[in-house]
Amino acid sequence: CDTLEKAESFIRSLPTPISLANYVAGELELPPSPETKFIDSYEPKTGNLLFRIPCTQEADVEKAIGHARTAFRTWSKTTRAERSRHLRRISELLQEHRELFAVWESIDQGKTIARARVEVDRAISNFSYFSTYILHEQTAARMVDGVALTYEHRSPAGVFALISPWNMPLYLLTWKIAPCIAFGCTAVAKPSEITSMTAYLLGILLRKAGLPPGVVNIVLGDGPTTGAALVASPSVDGVSFTGGTQTGMAIRLSTARQIRKRLSLELGGKNPTLIFADAMGPATRGRTLRVAASAAFENQGEICLCGSRIYVDRAVYEQFVAEFAPYVAEKYVLGETMGAVASLQHYQKIRGYLKLAADERATFVLGSVPAAMERHDEGGYWIQPTILTDVSKDSALQKDEIFGPVVTITPFEDEEDAISLANDSQYGLAAVLLTNDAARLRRVGERLEAGMVWANCWLVRELGTPFGGMKDSGTGREGGEYSRDVFTEVRTLHLAA
Ligand code: NAD
Repeated sequence: CDTLEKAESFIRSLPTPISLANYVAGELELPPSPETKFIDSYEPKTGNLLFRIPCTQEADVEKAIGHARTAFRTWSKTTRAERSRHLRRISELLQEHRELFAVWESIDQGKTIARARVEVDRAISNFSYFSTYILHEQTAARMVDGVALTYEHRSPAGVFALISPWNMPLYLLTWKIAPCIAFGCTAVAKPSEITSMTAYLLGILLRKAGLPPGVVNIVLGDGPTTGAALVASPSVDGVSFTGGTQTGMAIRLSTARQIRKRLSLELGGKNPTLIFADAMGPATRGRTLRVAASAAFENQGEICLCGSRIYVDRAVYEQFVAEFAPYVAEKYVLGETMGAVASLQHYQKIRGYLKLAADERATFVLGSVPAAMERHDEGGYWIQPTILTDVSKDSALQKDEIFGPVVTITPFEDEEDAISLANDSQYGLAAVLLTNDAARLRRVGERLEAGMVWANCWLVRELGTPFGGMKDSGTGREGGEYSRDVFTEVRTLHLAA
């Protein structure tokens, strides 16, 4: 299926629900345990039942971990050139099947096909980036007082549990798989039960790419059964997790007695966008509206980095609100440039917050409380882009991660007030700063409690830069050498002749 039309018509001709299987030891298989239950997964844009997903039980999770352990013995000893070739082959195959992956991602997650393509391209880059990174890695050596030569020796850290959420399924799972296997580790990966399809396809692709059996195993299932068993297993050496802060806490608790287990936790956010008066001047107004809108509404607001709290200099507050609403209404059109939210449960969660907004007498500058929906067959999970003003700073609307197409706009008085409002959050993942004042960019940027600050842009990424959050947004960073720190064990040698 090399074109969108062919892929879509092939996919639509399949009888549903489609049964998905695990990818373990190089084979696609249903979990062998007879007590395996199945999870129904629905298409967000229609509410139709689409997939039947096995909920892998602990015993079968352990078997997959056993295969990863066996594969680790040989994979950890392969040369960097050999691993690099495997990663390159995977990225080439993904490139060949880009359209197929993008169509399935769009169907399964609810996102637009344009957005899905961007994410598949990023998944391809994840493999191609780490395929070359490992070839150029350097280790520093130093002489200590002419007595000893000191250097760092790194070795693969073992078998990893790689767990990802539903918002950018393939992209986030490959952001973990690629560095994990590049640095010589092996994996048992688990995608979200809400969006398992591209992970299932990836298993087929890894087999086709000739990756040795057991290096990557993909088990499907929910969090409380499959995810919890994977994380808690004493046979797993490390966990790289992306998902909600509550789940991050559960993982911390369940592994508290396993000090040796490495944890990399990429968690939730409630990110601020700060708009200073000069950014609304004639030269940069267009950019300000574009950046603030995409930060708020890209992927239906279902990106951990989305700027869902906009703070605007009081001097241009009225102007910004008046211009932002029509801009968003024109740019983000349901079913065209904006998709459906990922699940019925998520629709209900977002609707709950919008009901709260109505109860708290917030102003709906754009959007309204969506209709109540109790059943999947009532249609897809569509929520208009929603802009709220007159929301108290202590409201749950300003505090909680809604993770949908909902943004609040609040005025600030001066720079200090802007920084204090931005930092008034349990989270510290990302922030966006809009101003033409270079001195202010640094002055404010360096005081924001956020792992990633974008100034006059958003979501620009270079895969070597540290990715991760402060405060309750996570522990550790990933990307380039930061991923190397997650997946390798380091020992320092002091050699005297
Ligand atoms: P979630 O925490 O509910 O689930 C994430 C994954 O963890 C899923 O695969 C789920 O099955 C699994 N899981 C759930 N309970 C588990 C447990 N007890 N043990 C092990 N695994 C378990 O998150 P979600 O609703 O799928 O995703 C949305 C969240 O992800 C948001 O909070 C968002 O901000 C966050 N996110 C963070 C980043 C980042 O890089 N910081 C990126 C994307 C999404």
